[in-house]
Amino acid sequence: MTDSYRHKGLRKRLIDEIKNKGIKDEKVLEAMLNIPRHFFTAKGFEERAYTDNALPIAADQTISQPYTVAFQTSLLNVKRGDKILEIGTGSGYQAAVLLELGAKLFTVERQKTLFLSSQKILKQLGYFPYSYYGDGYNGLPAYSPFDKILITAGAPDIPENLLNQLKTGGVMVIPVGKRDSQEMLRIIKISETEYKTENHGKFIFVPMLKGKE
Ligand code: SAH
Repeated sequence: MTDSYRHKGLRKRLIDEIKNKGIKDEKVLEAMLNIPRHFFTAKGFEERAYTDNALPIAADQTISQPYTVAFQTSLLNVKRGDKILEIGTGSGYQAAVLLELGAKLFTVERQKTLFLSSQKILKQLGYFPYSYYGDGYNGLPAYSPFDKILITAGAPDIPENLLNQLKTGGVMVIPVGKRDSQEMLRIIKISETEYKTENHGKFIFVPMLKGKE
């Protein structure tokens, strides 16, 4: 796989497009400008990698729409050195964006094939997250607490267990709702027992499922 001038040109156009759709965080836009999204899409979808669409990956899952990746990442307000837990590694693209922003990333995937393929692609690009194969509902208690937690699958409810793995002052970004329509929530942990929840509008994700495949 190569990252040609043509890919770079298409990528610049895509980043301009999501900027026009309202993404203002320059650091996020720059990180996405640096990452070849076509490495992460399924065979035959390289051409469409630079359109603002979710696309199929293995195991009936999807790589999130670039606008959505930018939106969730902006809400997370990533600082260099932040210890972040991502649930739903999928293609690994969102992980690459977080790593490009300087995060210390822990990422969990319940589909074995994606757990394996994502690591291969990320390694090829020089990104090294701590990758785990398992049920994200459990989080990673041994490595908690986290500064930030990002859920990239649609959750039916807010997983209490994951809130417990957040630092005080920490932030969770999670799409919550029914199968085909979720609300993007940003939850800020104010103290051990208090949370502030903001609603950032409707999105559609593949479902967050229990157990592992
Ligand atoms: N962040 C990914 C998005 C992939 S779609 C990307 O950039 O490509 C959501 C992913 O969440 C899927 O790969 C799905 O298998 C995974 N997932 C769903 N429920 C999960 C769970 N309980 N634990 C871990 N991963 C889960």
